[in-house]
Amino acid sequence: MWRADILTLYPDMFPGPLGASLSGDALERGIWSLATHQIRDHGRGRHRAVDDTPAGGGPGMVLRADVLGEAIDAVSVADDPRPRLYMSPRGRRLDQAFVRELAGGPGAIILCGRFEGIDERVIAGRDLIEVSIGDYVLSGGELAAMVMLDACVRLLPGVMGASASGEEESFESGLLEYPHYTRPRDWEGRMIPDILLSGDHGAIARWRREQALKLTRERRPDLLDPRDDLPE
Ligand code: SAM
Repeated sequence: MWRADILTLYPDMFPGPLGASLSGDALERGIWSLATHQIRDHGRGRHRAVDDTPAGGGPGMVLRADVLGEAIDAVSVADDPRPRLYMSPRGRRLDQAFVRELAGGPGAIILCGRFEGIDERVIAGRDLIEVSIGDYVLSGGELAAMVMLDACVRLLPGVMGASASGEEESFESGLLEYPHYTRPRDWEGRMIPDILLSGDHGAIARWRREQALKLTRERRPDLLDPRDDLPE
């Protein structure tokens, strides 16, 4: 079973959208597990404080290293093979290759930050890998963790049907995906391309590859390998 442990100040946010549809069904079927851990259980003093003002001054609050260290240690035993991830806008940008790598492993321990973030010393002190879901700032790591988990869980064996292995999807081939159509054939005067109704599977595969290349060249030329020869 692929196991996710989440450290958060807002455990009630989970499973949230992960409890529905593909991921929710897979959770119920025991393909993966999700456990949340309240960081505040390791807080200090009568008020279980988890944060303090930034050393050197400045706005906001920082999650304390001692609190987080203890919280991580309570979840992750020494020989736990799972990567420890810290959701962070400064991190490695999440992409499909990294999602595949994570999904192919035993699971993940995920720390969700809040406020100004976490004490820097925890990152090296607990071997955290920083992961960003994009170049924008969220108010907390929980939604970022959910995005990452959703992307991972759908790749676990048995989650998607055999017919939808995900291998043809955007990014899997290094390209954006070709366009899809379904009935009706004529919608408000917009027709399904004839080739898709031709029954010629070879021609359909070529058309789809051409469309994928065209879309990628137009929208995400940064994804293109110079060896992809695009027919003009
Ligand atoms: N002061 C931080 C900075 O400028 O990099 C931003 C802190 S943010 C308000 C609070 C928390 O949200 C972070 O600790 C992180 O866990 C999470 N977060 C925000 N944006 C994120 C992103 N793009 N990807 C992943 N996590 C993010």
